[in-house]
Amino acid sequence: MTPPAPPHFAIAIDGPAASGKTTLARELAKLLGLVMVNSGEMYRAVTWQVLNAQIDPHDHAAVIALLQHIDIQCGDDGISSTLTINGIDPGAALRCAAVNANVSTIAAIPEVRAKLVALQRDYLKRTNIVMEGRDIGSVVFPDTPFKIYVDAAEHVRAARRVKMGEIDSVAQRDAADSRRATAPLIIAPGAAILDNSHHTIASGVRAAIEILKHQGLQC
Ligand code: C5P
Repeated sequence: MTPPAPPHFAIAIDGPAASGKTTLARELAKLLGLVMVNSGEMYRAVTWQVLNAQIDPHDHAAVIALLQHIDIQCGDDGISSTLTINGIDPGAALRCAAVNANVSTIAAIPEVRAKLVALQRDYLKRTNIVMEGRDIGSVVFPDTPFKIYVDAAEHVRAARRVKMGEIDSVAQRDAADSRRATAPLIIAPGAAILDNSHHTIASGVRAAIEILKHQGLQC
């Protein structure tokens, strides 16, 4: 008889836009041999599909109706998450100005969140993960002991986006993400705060590893 597979674990990385959590999650995953899951891409993919269908993102009934016809396949390539939506990988289109401007509106719709949270939780059935987002430590995996809230000063975050060549009003997105009724961006109970304003990538990873060891991760 095959022994049962050991339970998988998740490291939850939350924080505001452009705080450096994607880079941190990617580096941690590499270092620890885990799969990095970018949950923001899932919200971006739904937004992209809504815009393609020429539906007003504020028309919740229309978005919810479209949701029934959206098939999102989430997987991984052994390193990070992969995604197709109705058979298409939207790639760089997920980071266009129109998606940036509308994703918080779509992400505030409870039915959208319910569909995507289920897909996010499915990852743990398959593998150990570092997942980054806004509600990973508070809603998606509230029971994980491994939680980091990555923050950075607003001017540092805005400068990061400019450097990436993106048109993205991070302050507006953060305000919407923090004020929404369902799964707002919060510092999850048990999360340690990592101020990423002045870290290099390497020093940020070292700080995160110290936090995770303190939270009981054996690495
Ligand atoms: O992480 P990223 O900036 O790509 O996320 C895009 C948007 O997706 C966020 O501004 C937020 O509205 C939404 N999001 C969310 N919950 C998550 C991840 C992202 O609401 N777990």
